Amino acid sequence: MNRSIHPAVGAGIESRPSTRNIWSYINNQPKPGGKLTCKCASNPVVVTVTAPAAHNHLCGCTKCWKPDGALFSQVAVVPRDRLSVTQNQGKLKILDETVSIQRHCCSECGTHMFGRVEDSNHHFFGLDFIHIELSKDDGWPPIQFAGFVSSIVESGTDPSELDDIRNQIRGLGLETYDEFSPELNAYIASRASDLSFKNQVF
Ligand SMILES: [Zn+2]
Ligand SMILES: [Zn+2]
Repeated sequence: MNRSIHPAVGAGIESRPSTRNIWSYINNQPKPGGKLTCKCASNPVVVTVTAPAAHNHLCGCTKCWKPDGALFSQVAVVPRDRLSVTQNQGKLKILDETVSIQRHCCSECGTHMFGRVEDSNHHFFGLDFIHIELSKDDGWPPIQFAGFVSSIVESGTDPSELDDIRNQIRGLGLETYDEFSPELNAYIASRASDLSFKNQVF
């Protein structure tokens, strides 16, 4: 049985080179960002990103924003100083100010526009988390892996289904992890040892 992993990987892996972004993919020149728009029919919140996104992945945690019916979110990171709210900032609110990654979401449609870390000692400080499916622009990076897969149990998936779900994701050509990917773990470790972090990611 095929489950609804995420719309971006619904029919095979659509976020791999599509006809829309094939040229930027072939040229291996990631497009520097784009616009993200919330789901409001009128006066949407618009966020503009002016850097390529990195580490685009599926996430099974309970905090990341997921489209209706999807088991996973699709989430990537961009440098925080390259993200700005360019329309209807007044509609944004912080979902929960007590968590490390504060989700700034539209108070009308509920879409998470970006997640931001305010603690300068946190390993993700300096990066914002975004959902590139909110953009109609071409050239975003493809999904690279699925993280926190077993965490979908926390939002109601039966643990006995995990093996099938992992197989389904591997069938899309993606590796599955119950935490971040080794690359992101290495990044977190490098932050802990105070290496120059921006060069590691971008
Ligand atoms: Zn909205
Ligand atoms: Zn997550």
